[in-house]
Amino acid sequence: MSPRRRIYPIFVPHAGCPHDCVFCNQKRISGSLYPASAETVRSALAALPEGVGCELAFYGGSFTAIAPAQQEELLAAAQPFREKGTVESIRVSTRPDAVKEGSLERLRRFGVETVELGAQSMSDSVLRAAGRGHTAADTISAALLVRDHGFHLILQMMTGLPGSDAQTDIATARELIALRPDGVRIYPTVVIRDTALETLWREGKYREHTLADAVAVCARIVPLFDAAGIPVIRLGLNPTEELSGGAVVAGAYHPALGELVRSRILRQKAEAMLCKRKTGAFATLFVSPKDYSAMIGQHRENMAYFSDRFPDIRLRVKSTDLPAGEIRLGE
Ligand code: SF4
Repeated sequence: MSPRRRIYPIFVPHAGCPHDCVFCNQKRISGSLYPASAETVRSALAALPEGVGCELAFYGGSFTAIAPAQQEELLAAAQPFREKGTVESIRVSTRPDAVKEGSLERLRRFGVETVELGAQSMSDSVLRAAGRGHTAADTISAALLVRDHGFHLILQMMTGLPGSDAQTDIATARELIALRPDGVRIYPTVVIRDTALETLWREGKYREHTLADAVAVCARIVPLFDAAGIPVIRLGLNPTEELSGGAVVAGAYHPALGELVRSRILRQKAEAMLCKRKTGAFATLFVSPKDYSAMIGQHRENMAYFSDRFPDIRLRVKSTDLPAGEIRLGE
């Protein structure tokens, strides 16, 4: 993964968004009750220490769907801080169908470098069931437009949406890879209080995407992005007090989801190596010190799995100077 700038997020919850995605309650997801104003931007940036550069990120809502005058107000409020160097760059997140030539030109004028698109799925039937109000074709044209205009492109996808399954989610990942983004965010579906998805789930019309489902499918998706050289810059919703304090009613919410997925990927790799191993009652998995605890697993889950799966092998894990993600099998 390439080194990243410190991101300073400002949430524009639901601002400009004419849609009602079944899973969305931006106020609860972002933990922010009021849409950001130019004053919010100014006072937030003024409070940052001098000499520390950051990337200002307008998250939530659909930035380019906000009234143009309001977009300009928010972006203009950041300009003095760009000149001072407090803000080194700006990123915005938006919907694929809200990306047009004119909106990109506006972003460019105010120094935006990165555009994040909420693709969520590349299956039109899943997008329909989620109430997204755009199609996979909209995502393709928006992604091409963003790239052609020279912005960094980040794509967001969700797993476990209504009407989706592991195969559909993996197919989405493959289609996103074909769009050659500079990074992706993966958000397994979480059922948030006061959303249409909560109603569907309570009525038994949506089967929750459990933590186990999310770990299993993400452990198949992340290696695809890794192999394509596309960094996964986020896995799972950012933990907030609101989410951890009861806003989540079901689904794959876990503050360390990324770590659980990394642990599963290492387990899969080690399992494949152990299956090919011919003889010997002892085996050692050598891993990078960074991977040691992920290899063992949370609550030693991976070690328990290996002792069930390979009852004849006495297995140890040892740190060595391997790069992260690599495993060497020894005696
Ligand atoms: S597009 Fe959907 S997820 Fe995004 S703010 Fe609108 S309703 Fe929420």
